[in-house]
Amino acid sequence: MKQSVFYIPTLKESPKDAEAKSHALMIRSGMIKQTAAGIYTYLPLGLKVLKKIEAIVRDEHHLLGCSEVLMPALQPKDLWEESGRWGAYGPELMRLSDRKDREFCLGPTHEEVITALVRDYLNSYKKLPVALYQIQTKFRDEMRPRFGLMRGREFIMKDLYTFHANEASLNQWYEDVKAMYSRIFDRCGLETKIVASNTGEIGGLEAHEFMVMSEVGEDTVVYCENSSEAYNIEATDLRPGDPCEGGGVVLSAEGIEVGNTFKIGTKYSASMNAFFQDDQGQRQPILMASYGIGIGRTLMAVVEQHATDKGLIWPKSLSPFDIHLIPLNPVDAPVQALYESLKARYDVLIDDRDERPGVKFNDAELIGIPIKVICGRGFSEGRVEFEALGIKKEVALNDLDQEIAQAMNA
Ligand code: ATP
Ligand code: MG
Repeated sequence: MKQSVFYIPTLKESPKDAEAKSHALMIRSGMIKQTAAGIYTYLPLGLKVLKKIEAIVRDEHHLLGCSEVLMPALQPKDLWEESGRWGAYGPELMRLSDRKDREFCLGPTHEEVITALVRDYLNSYKKLPVALYQIQTKFRDEMRPRFGLMRGREFIMKDLYTFHANEASLNQWYEDVKAMYSRIFDRCGLETKIVASNTGEIGGLEAHEFMVMSEVGEDTVVYCENSSEAYNIEATDLRPGDPCEGGGVVLSAEGIEVGNTFKIGTKYSASMNAFFQDDQGQRQPILMASYGIGIGRTLMAVVEQHATDKGLIWPKSLSPFDIHLIPLNPVDAPVQALYESLKARYDVLIDDRDERPGVKFNDAELIGIPIKVICGRGFSEGRVEFEALGIKKEVALNDLDQEIAQAMNA
C-alpha cells in the first residue's frame, strides 16, 4: 500500500482532552477519530488492527466449536420486559421508539435476543450444548465515556452465549472458554490477570474478569503475593493491607477489564421460557453462560501495555502492516523493485510521499509498524537500514529476506 494514497491523518500535537497515553496516541497516529463524546470512527489503520483482533477471536472461537451469528442492534422492548430488565437496566440503556410509538432499545448486550432466538429449537437434551457468538456494535449511554475506545457509548464487543443440559457441561464450557480467552489475549500480545468478580446486572452463579494491569484501569484488583487468586475489589471483603493466609499482606493495583465470563444459570431461560426435555423426560430450564470481550478496549489495552510516549508499538500479530518500507529519496526503479518483491510475500506500507526524512521518521514512529526497512544513503551500494523489535542495524540487500523472515518468526 502506498502511503501517498492511504488515508493516515497524523497529528503533530496530542489532542487536549486525551488523558490516557493510548487515547492520545491512537488519535495522533491517525488510527481513530472522535465523532461525538464516546463515539468513534475507525480510520483505515485502526480498522486494520481491529480486523486482526477480530480474526484471532474468530479463529479461537471456531477451534472451540462456537458458531458465529449476527444479531440485531435494535431490540424490541417486549423481550426486555420478559426478562425484567427493561425497568432494571437503568439510564445506560439507549431507548427509542418507532413511528408507531413502539419502544425499542439499542442493544447493550444480547441475553434477551439470544434466548428468544434459540428457545423454540433447543427443546431436547440431545440438541445441547450449543455455543453461539457474534462480533457486534453495542450501545450504552455511559455516565463517563473515557479514553477513546476504552469506554465508549458505541463500541464493538464479541459476545458468546452457551446453552447446556446439565451443570457438568456448563462448568466444562466455562473453564474451556476461560482458557480460550487466555489464548486470545496471549495472541494479542497482552498479559492478563484472571480475577473473580461480581455477577452484576447480568446475574448468575459466578463470574470472572480478564484484567490488563495498568494505571489507567478503572477497576481495582486485590491479590496476595504468594497466590494466584485475585479479586475485583467490588467482589470481596479483602482490603489492601489485610493479612494474607500464606503470609504477607493484600496488595492492590488498577486494571483494565478487557473481557469477562458469567456463569448465569437459569435466570433468562426461566423468565423467558427456554425449556428442554432432559434424558428422563423432565422439563427443565436451559442452563446458560455468557462471555464478553471488548474488542476496541482490547486494542487500547495493547497500546497502553506496549507503546512509548512517542509512538505506538504493535505486536506483530496486530500490526496494521507487516513491514514499513521507507525510502528517503523519491521512489526510483530499484526501490520499486524492492517494494514489489516484498509485497509479493508481506503486507507492506511504502512511504512514497514527497516529504523530508524527519517527517517520514516521525510518522513511522507514531504508527508503530514493528519491522522497518529504510532505503537511505547506502541503498545505491546495496545496503538498507533494518529495524525489527526495537533493534536497528545496517543490512546488505542480499540478506534482507533472511532478516525479515527471522523477525517475522521471532
Ligand atoms: P465495565 O465494568 O468496564 O463497565 P461491564 O462489566 O459493563 O464493563 P460487560 O457488560 O460484561 O462489561 O461487557 C463485556 C466487555 O465489553 C467488557 O469486559 C469490556 O471489555 C467491554 N466493554 C464494556 N463496556 C464498554 C464500553 N463502554 N466501551 C468499550 N468496551 C466496553
Ligand atoms: Mg459497564
